[in-house]
Amino acid sequence: MKTGIIVIDPGHGGVNNVGGSDANHAVSALGDLEKNLTLEIGLLLAEELRLKKHQVHLTRSTDTNLSLKDRANLALTNKADVFISIHFNGWSDTTTQGTETYVYPGAGGDSVLLASSVQQRLVQATGYKNRGVKEMKLGVLNPAYHSPKTAAVLAEISFITETNDAQRLRQTAYKKSLASALSIAVDDFINKHSSIKKTEVQQLFNVLDTEDSDI
Ligand SMILES: [Zn+2]
Repeated sequence: MKTGIIVIDPGHGGVNNVGGSDANHAVSALGDLEKNLTLEIGLLLAEELRLKKHQVHLTRSTDTNLSLKDRANLALTNKADVFISIHFNGWSDTTTQGTETYVYPGAGGDSVLLASSVQQRLVQATGYKNRGVKEMKLGVLNPAYHSPKTAAVLAEISFITETNDAQRLRQTAYKKSLASALSIAVDDFINKHSSIKKTEVQQLFNVLDTEDSDI
């Protein structure tokens, strides 16, 4: 079994915007904060990947915020094979649900392959609509901050603004199943490149297109 250097980035944190990273974005239907959910899943994922002997670094392991560049920089300085940023979505229409994974526009093939692996495993775990692998100029994935050898992706696991999802995310077993899905996806990427089915990337044209952003 091959092992890799993995940087896990639990999205958001703390109380202030730091270098483009908002303290929090989505708030669940039950009032739980995205920043706390991303940290919980990130810590569970770190545990799983360490059991598989991967070398794991977390951009944060407490309720603090780091700039988008500093988050990416941890992957650069550690010569990471994988950078995975964990997020949850929210929307004003509380019936919206689905799972999606992002790469930076024009990201190298390895990022798309990792995103495909993450997306496939996450959809299996959530059972939600497959909203696909998408491109967006997200600051944390900016190739200017990363080594070209690092596959960099951002997962939006689900829409926590849906009541049922907010309830699921209070169950430890469900959160562990999400971390396991991500762990398998990363491990597959490190070990079984050729067996991962590469997903077509959807290009998003939106107002955020001219500026590195956070979601
Ligand atoms: Zn987010």
